[in-house]
Formats: sequence, C-alpha cells, structure tokens
Amino acid sequence: MNVTPLRRAPPDRCSPRLLALATLLALGARAAAAAAAPPGAPAPTGPGAEEERPPLLQLPGGVRPVRYALDLEVVPAREDGIRGRAEIAVVLERPLARIWLHARDLAVSEVTVEQAGGERVPGRLTQVHPSGVARLDLPRAVGPGPATIRLAWSAPWGPTGAGSFRAREGDDLYASTQFEAVEARRAFPCFDEPRFKTPFEVTLTVPAGLVAISNAPERGSEPAAGGLRRVRYSATRPIPTYLVFWTVGPYDVVDAPAPPNEIRRTPLPVRYVVPRRRAADVAFAREAGQALLPELERWFGTPFPYPKLDHIALPGFPLAMENPGAISYVESALLFDARRQGPDERRWIADTMAHEMSHHWFGDLVTLPWWTEIWLNESFAQWMGTRAVQRWQPSWGADVAAVRGTTRAMRQDELAATRAILKPLARIEEVEGQFDAMSYQKGAALLGMIERWVGEVPFRDGVRRYLAAHEDGTGSTDALLAEISAAAGRDVAGPFRTFLSQPGVPRVEAAVACEASGARVRLRQARALPRGSAVPAGGAWRIPVCLRYEAAGAVRERCTLLEEAEGTLALPEGCPAWLMPDAGAAGYYAWALPPADLARLRARGLARLGTLERLSFARAVAAAARAGALPYADAMDALTALARDPRPEVAAAPIEALEHAHDWLVAPADRPAVEAVARRLYRPVLARLGWSARPGESGAVRDLRGRVVRLLAVTGRDPGVRREAARRGAAYAGMADGKLHPEAVDPELVAIALAVAVQDLGRPAFDAVLARARSASDLATRERLLPALAAADDPDLARRFAAVVAGDELPLLERVGAVLDLHAVRGDPAFAARRLALLAENVDAWAAGLPPFMAARLPAIASGACSGEDAARVEALFAGRAAALPGVEPMVARAVEQIRLCAAGREADAGPASAWFARAAARDAPVRRGTPR
Ligand SMILES: [Zn+2]
Repeated sequence: MNVTPLRRAPPDRCSPRLLALATLLALGARAAAAAAAPPGAPAPTGPGAEEERPPLLQLPGGVRPVRYALDLEVVPAREDGIRGRAEIAVVLERPLARIWLHARDLAVSEVTVEQAGGERVPGRLTQVHPSGVARLDLPRAVGPGPATIRLAWSAPWGPTGAGSFRAREGDDLYASTQFEAVEARRAFPCFDEPRFKTPFEVTLTVPAGLVAISNAPERGSEPAAGGLRRVRYSATRPIPTYLVFWTVGPYDVVDAPAPPNEIRRTPLPVRYVVPRRRAADVAFAREAGQALLPELERWFGTPFPYPKLDHIALPGFPLAMENPGAISYVESALLFDARRQGPDERRWIADTMAHEMSHHWFGDLVTLPWWTEIWLNESFAQWMGTRAVQRWQPSWGADVAAVRGTTRAMRQDELAATRAILKPLARIEEVEGQFDAMSYQKGAALLGMIERWVGEVPFRDGVRRYLAAHEDGTGSTDALLAEISAAAGRDVAGPFRTFLSQPGVPRVEAAVACEASGARVRLRQARALPRGSAVPAGGAWRIPVCLRYEAAGAVRERCTLLEEAEGTLALPEGCPAWLMPDAGAAGYYAWALPPADLARLRARGLARLGTLERLSFARAVAAAARAGALPYADAMDALTALARDPRPEVAAAPIEALEHAHDWLVAPADRPAVEAVARRLYRPVLARLGWSARPGESGAVRDLRGRVVRLLAVTGRDPGVRREAARRGAAYAGMADGKLHPEAVDPELVAIALAVAVQDLGRPAFDAVLARARSASDLATRERLLPALAAADDPDLARRFAAVVAGDELPLLERVGAVLDLHAVRGDPAFAARRLALLAENVDAWAAGLPPFMAARLPAIASGACSGEDAARVEALFAGRAAALPGVEPMVARAVEQIRLCAAGREADAGPASAWFARAAARDAPVRRGTPR
C-alpha cells in the first residue's frame, strides 16, 4: 500500500511541520495497550478454553482456510450494499463446535458447515467485537479433517477507502474495495489474517453495461436476471484476504500488453482502467509501466508473478494498493495531464507504480506472517520503487526524494513517541499506525545502508533466495536477514536488528586525529535527541559507517562497522584535507563534526561532495542545531551559504529555516530583517530562473522555482513577486472570463499564485477560485484550487472557507486535504491557529466520515503549531475521542510532542535568531537601500 495522503506531501516541503496526513504516524499507545484485552492465540489452559475467549488480536489454531469461492452481487446503484455467498474450504485440525473468524457489520442469513462426506450442520454466526471478531457456533463438534463453510450475507457500503465502498464521479457511481489491513471482514466473512494464503475464486454479478475487474483474469460471463451479468474469474494464486479486490463501474479501458523480454518469454496482458473520458490521461503511466516492469523483472530475476496486470484509477480513492493483478490508485497517482501538471507529479506517478508493482514480489508473492512485520512489505517496495525510477530516469531526482524521505523519518524517529520498526501490536486497532514513516522511509533507508555495506549483488542475491524459498507463502524478517547474511558472507542480521528492534536515530560523531604515526578517525555514537526531549540518552547500535574524505590527492570512501560506543578507523592515505561521515548519504544516522573539522569540510569539501551528500550535510547541520550542539548562528551561516549551490535541490535547502525563523522565531518587529535576507538570497535565483519553465528544464529546477516564488511572496513579502503571482493567479482562475486557464501559470506555481491572488485581490479572486473548484472535473486541478481559498486574510472570506470545509458540496477527503494544505500556503502562527480551529470545529464529522486509517491521522493537522498552549489544545481536543477514532492515541502523542519540541526550540533560538538576522540584514544594507518593501 502507499498511504498517500489526500494529496502527496510535495517532496520539498518535507519538514514534519508540513507533512501530509499519511506520513504522520503511530507509535505504540502504552497506556491503552496495558488496558487492552489479552492477545489472541493463548495456550489453551484446559479442554475448550481457547474457544471461550474472543481472540481479539490473532485467531487461535485449530482451523485453517485452504480455498475461498466468493459469489458476489455488486450493483453500485443499490443503496444497501453488496450481497454475497461464500464457500470456504477449511481443514479442521481437531473436532470443533466453535470456529473463530472475522465478519464486521455483515447481515449473515445462512451458515452451514459440512464435513467431507458428511451432512450439512447449520450454525450461527455472531459478531462479538466491533473490530469484527466473530464466532461460528455449531450444535455439535465437526472434524477433524477437511470441511466446507457455506455462508450467505449482505454487507453495507463502507466509508470510501475501507472495505467494500462506493465513489461518485459526476453522475457516475463506482463500487470498489480496499482491504488492507483488516477491512476484508467488512465485505465477506473470512479468516482475515495475512498468514492465511489461499486461492480465491471470485464470481461477480454486476449491471450488464459496467466494467468488472478482480485479481484474476476473466474466465467467462453470462447474462443474469434483471439486466445483470455474471462474470467468472479464474482462481488466483494463493493470496491473503487483504489482497482480494474487485471493482465495478463505467470505466474506460486501455489495452497495453507488456512485450516479452529476456526474463519473461510471453507477453503480459496489461490494461489501464480509468474513469470515463480520462483515457487520454494514461499516456504517461503507460510509458512508465512499459519501462518499469522489465526493470523490476530484471532485478528480481523472475517474471511478473501473476497472469495479468490492471492499473486502475479509482475515483475518490485516497491510496494506492498492490492487489495482485489489479493495482488500485488514487487518481493523481496514475492520471497525468501535461497541461495541468508538473514533473514532480509525473515522478510521483512513476514512484507509485514502481512501488506497487514491486509489491507483487515483495508482499504479494511472499507475504508478511503478521502485521508486526509490515516493514518487510513497505520498506522494500519503497526502496525498490526509488531504485527502479532512478534507473529509468536518473535526472528525475528519485534519489533526492528518498534522502528527503529519510530526513522526514529521522524527524519522527527523534521523538519519544516514535516506535521501533518491529514493535509488536498490542491491539488490532494499532495496525493502521504501522503504516508510517518507520515502515516506509526508515526501513527503506536501512535497506539502502545495508546494500551499500554488503554490495549490490550479494544484497540482491539474498533477496532472490528469500523470495524463491517462500513464494506463495509467508516470509519473516529473520528469514530475509538470514538469506542476505548468507549471500553476503557476513552477519547482516545482527547490525540490522539493532535498528529494527529499538526506536531512535543514532548520532555518529566523527573527529579526525592526525599524528606522526598516521591519520585516524575517532567515532562515537549516542542517540540523536532534539532540545527539550524527555527521552533518556542511551541506545546502542551496530552501525555501518561510510566516510567520504580527500587524501593523497583523491576523494575516497572507506566503511567500517561501529559496534561499540566508540571506535576508530585508520586512514592509510594520511591526514585528510576534509572528511564527511556519510558517504553516499546512505547512512541512517545523524552525524556531527568538531567545529574545526566542520569548517574544513565547508571550505574545502562541500564542492567535492555529491548532491545527496550535500543534502546530508544540510540535514546534519539542521539536526545539530536542533540538538543544541551547534550554535544557531553557525548553523545559519552554513545553511544559507547553500542558497548559491549550483544544484537546485541543494539551493532549496535553506528555505525551510528562513520560513521558520520568520514565522516563529523572531519578534514581529524583527521580521523585516528576515524578509530582507530572504530577498537577498533568492531574488537572484528567481532572476536566473524566470517565471516559466524552459523546454527540457529538469524537475528539480522547476521545483526550486516553485519554492523560491513562495518564499519571496510569503516570507520575503517581495512586492514585485506578489504582483506577478497575483496577476498569474487571477489569470489561471479566469477572473476575467470565468474559464480556467492552466496555461497562465506553470503547474509548480499555481498554488502560490492562487493564494497570493486571494490574499491581495480579495473577494473577486476568492469567488473565481471557488467557482473553478466547483466545476473542475479532475482531482489535480481541485487540489490546487481548494487550499488557495484557505489563504484569505479577510475574516469574511475565512468564514466562507470554513463553510466550504464544513459543507458537503465537495468530497470529504478533498475538504480535509484543503485544511492540511493550509500549510503549503502559509505556516505562521495565525494560520496554525486557523488550522487548529477548523480541526476542532469539524473533528467529529470527519471522524464519522473518513476511513479509519485517515481518521486516526487527523491530529497531523495540528502539527504545524509551535506553542505550549497549542499542544495543550490538541491534547484536550482528542481527550475522550479515542473510542470514535481507533488508533488515534499515538498520533496525538506525536503531534503534541512535536509541538512541544518546536516550542522548546523557539525559546532557545528566538534571541540568537533575531541577532543573526539583524547582522545579516545589516550586511545587506547597501543593496537594500532604495528598494521598496
Ligand atoms: Zn506499499
């Protein structure tokens, strides 16, 4: 799954303050866990004991499903949901009169159990817990041996994105499913755990004119009564319930079979399935799919494991999901319109497609045994997706996006409220919290670190051996690490485990000692903690550390395994000119140098580092400042020097620090100094870039342009930039002619241009933007328009935006997204307060209407705040709402801790920030003279 938010986090606005819903996440709720019901699968204490206690976490042993036949009537226009019949072939390991399974909010009308060669025994199915744990009671024991459970039921539509649900696009209705993690039980009775992999034979009865798709290829169809059609699908390879999928709707279908290659000898049927009239928008996805699938097949060394592949853009769907043979996507992760969208969104599509296709090997073919190990699925797909896109389009910056993802993960992992990747689940309600930056970005970074340490080929061979050994079954962390260790000829599992089984980011301090006897680097490790953290120091990792340095006339790399609190590494070439402790930016650690070594690196080494390494430099400087280990002034000197960097990715690195200083650190009276520094640093950049992309310009340049315009317009209060932004925003929104004009602004600049137009031109701009949002037929356009409405300073317009958010004219997911995106528009205290107020006003309605995994992430909306009072407000808001928002406690803990840490950093940095900007602005005085504010 790719837990994309309502909208993806723009890769560059990646501080945790600006994170979109999805990357915000969970840790374990200790208090709640202590109070939770006992986990399932206890050792029986006496005959029948395990049959008595509802297994709230995992099902007990005794019965194992081996095959499902699902016969479902899916009619999108029907208000009351779907109807189904199932035959579940099971093996009873002993005589049982009670079978535990899952069924959530289903109206079950028939239940029988029939032993092979025996009679049908009628039973009764009772749901015993809101999470869907159910009990099938029989009048007498059945088994041991094979048996068939037959059921008939109806299931109401679930919330969009959970279970069996509907979405509306214009006048069209689509019915679809999303079952990860524990939502299959909302659609059919089942043994809803990933370790149970069986073939599924699905039959769908649907309106005759609609397209119907499931995991397996269609085997045949025939007309059915009432204008319906019965479509039969082949049996799948063994899959778990969370990967079962179907969708029914008025889709357009584009055939694009994948030709054979040196790994796959036959063509693979591939189709792009899109909402009606959007077929033209799959051109880019086709190109990406054609390139990325063979890339994956070559790496894995085996053909795509399933007999067909459909890529499906689901209207109203907020995720992307790796259902074998039928990947479902949020519309923005598959459809691309070059007139309205930018390279950033194009790369996002490629990333997502590569991620979901990778899952077909890692997750689908070999599945996690239990949700504790979800990192196996997600880290690997994340790492592999980046790798495949990087290989296909090296200039698109997939590697840069991955480094930024690691930075985000580290920001979360510094918190007390983070979690170990392998933290056991205490309650099933915690499962959604597993889909977080730990499972995705941290795990992906760890895989990259290990690959760099052991080498590409041994790493790949270990993964191939693991997949071959467990295909169509389940694999575990232990099994994977054992195979990589075997292929690499060294113990990978030991070091890796220190990162998987404990939370936190290690900090590696490196210091060069040059003596007559030679040069040595002394390494020390400790847990990286921000100022104000309540986490006790401690933690010990076994860390593959790779150093970059220049010695004896060449830039070199040397790696070691830091296994103790301290270690040394000899540099045989003699005293280095400079040293940087994170070669390739592949380490999952924060790093630090003594002042003299840092100064040498800045003066002599930075220009010799790669782009990713310079980003690692910026991250290390920011982390050291956050920890209080580097004075604010030194950090700002080092960061702002990067604004002149020739690589656009690096030149953008200081922007977040400028915005934060302006919005939160300096007193309002001192803001003009920050504004002046922002203008001095980035006006020349915008002058060089211009307002429009040039043909062939890279995505990174376009991305930098977007960030610079935003910085100059919002933080820099640059009058010329604001005038031009407002002019273009007004043209885009069609203030003159009532029509949308995508050609008026580059896609990267639309959001900020519209926001400035709404702020500076007021009501007419607001009305135009709202009118275009109401009539826009595509999500990409609405995503740009809606947040701009939030930018209004005028209290009347702010009230109208609040009414749009609370109303039901636009889809709920998009309204919540607009509130989240308020940050993309402006991050100052007034807007943080507005976000909090909107959250408080709407939290109950949203809790009721959002799918559970999104509802649990609502506290993320508060994460841009930065004061003790705000932290208390967020705590109070969610106190008492845990029952309505299952899994919310860890998200609240994280949001509150982030706000408190931000407040602590403010207290420490406010004075030094005012002083630094006053000095920096004074240096700028001759330039500024005569420049209107
Ligand atoms: Zn995934």
